[in-house]
Amino acid sequence: MSKTIAVNAGSSSLKWQLYTMPEEVVVAKGIVERIGLNDSIFTIKYGSGEKYEVIKDIEDHEIAIHMLLDQLTELKIIESLEEITGAGHRIVAGGEHFKESAIIDDAALKLVDELAEFAPLHNPAEAKVIRVFQKLLPDTLNVGVFDTSFHTTMPEVNYLYSIPKEYYEKFAARKYGAHGTSHRFVSKRAAELLGKPIEETKIITCHLGNGASVTAVDGGKSVDTSMGFTPLAGLTMGTRSGDIDASLLPYLMEKLNLTDIKDMIDILNKKSGLFGLSGISSDMRDLLAAEETNKDAKVAIEIFEDRVRKYIGSYAATMNGVDAIVFTAGIGENDIEMRENVIHGLTWFGCEIDREKNNVRGKEVEISTADSKVKVFLIPTDEELMIARDVQALQK
Ligand code: ADP
Repeated sequence: MSKTIAVNAGSSSLKWQLYTMPEEVVVAKGIVERIGLNDSIFTIKYGSGEKYEVIKDIEDHEIAIHMLLDQLTELKIIESLEEITGAGHRIVAGGEHFKESAIIDDAALKLVDELAEFAPLHNPAEAKVIRVFQKLLPDTLNVGVFDTSFHTTMPEVNYLYSIPKEYYEKFAARKYGAHGTSHRFVSKRAAELLGKPIEETKIITCHLGNGASVTAVDGGKSVDTSMGFTPLAGLTMGTRSGDIDASLLPYLMEKLNLTDIKDMIDILNKKSGLFGLSGISSDMRDLLAAEETNKDAKVAIEIFEDRVRKYIGSYAATMNGVDAIVFTAGIGENDIEMRENVIHGLTWFGCEIDREKNNVRGKEVEISTADSKVKVFLIPTDEELMIARDVQALQK
C-alpha cells in the first residue's frame, strides 16, 4: 500500500510520521533528537503501542535517515522502501516564491537554499534532508510544505512595515508570518464545523504553543498574522518577546554592554517571553503550578492572555467581524483557564464561553455558549496530516 512520510527537520532533530494514504492512517511515527551531539536518541512508535528506542551518537541527518529507513523494514513496518511513494517536508521559509506546497525538484531545492537568509537555522537543514531523500529514495516524490505559504495571501497593507518602501523592494523586508500549515488546517476544519463554505467565513485562529501566533482568516485566506519578518514578532511566547519597541534595543545594549546586535536578538528569542517575565520557566505548565505563590509567574500568564486577546480584537476589526475563534497547539488545546480568561475579555462582541464545555483538553469541541454570536472552537492541530494531504494532492 502507498505510504507517505511527513518530515519535520530541525537543525538537530528529525520528526516524522508515516501514513497509509489516502486512508490517512498513521502506521508509525518517530523522532531523532540530538543529531550531531553525543547520545542521540532515536525513537519509533508503531503497531499497537510498540516502541523501538536506541541511544547512540548519530553524526548527521543522513545517518539518521539511513537508520530510519533500515528500521522501517527491519521492524516490518513496511515490506520495502518502494512503498514510500511520497515525502512531505516542512520548510520554514518559502519567501514570496512558494505560495503553496510544491514538488521539490533541483530548481526548487536551490530556491529553498537561497531562502536560508530568512531562516538560517532551518532552511539549510531542511534542504539537506531533501537531498538525502533524493539519494536514498530516488523514486519518491518530494514535496515542500512551507510555514509561510498560507500567509502569502496577505494584502500589502498588512505585510508592509512602515519603513522606507525601498527596503521591501530591494531586500524583501516584509512580514512573512509562520505556522501557516497549522492555521490552514484548523481554519479549514472550523469552516466545516460552522457548516458554511469557507469563502463565506471570517475565522481567527490562535496557535498557542511554545511558539505562538494568531491569524485572521477571511474567506479561507490569511489576511494578517501576528508573526513578522521572523517568528520573533507578535504574541508573548515561551522564550520570545513578541512585539516590542525597536528603540529598546540600542538602549538595552548600552546598559548590558553588548556590542553585537545578534546577542540582543538572542536575548529576545531565547531568554524573554514567559521565561524572561517569570524567571522560572518557558513552559506554561510550570507557570500554572507556581502562579499562586509566585507573582511574576502570575503576571507572565496575564500578559500572555492579554496579548492573545488584543490580537483577536485587532483581527476582528481587520476583518470587520468574526464568525469563529479557534484555539490550538499545546497551550491552546490544554489550558482551560487561559481560554476562559481570553474569551471573558471579549464578551463585548458577543462572544461567550460555556465553562462546562470548555472544561476539556486536546479534543475537538465547540466551547462557546449556544447563543454566543461568535463560535469558539478547540481544534487539535495536525500539521503532519496536512503535509501528507498536500503530498497526496500533488501525486495525482
Ligand atoms: P511547540 O511549539 O514546541 O510544538 P507545543 O504546541 O507542544 O509547543 O506547546 C507547548 C506548550 O504547551 C508548553 O508551554 C506547555 O506548557 C503547554 N501545555 C501543555 N500541556 C498543558 C496543560 N495541560 N496546561 C497548560 N499548558 C500546557
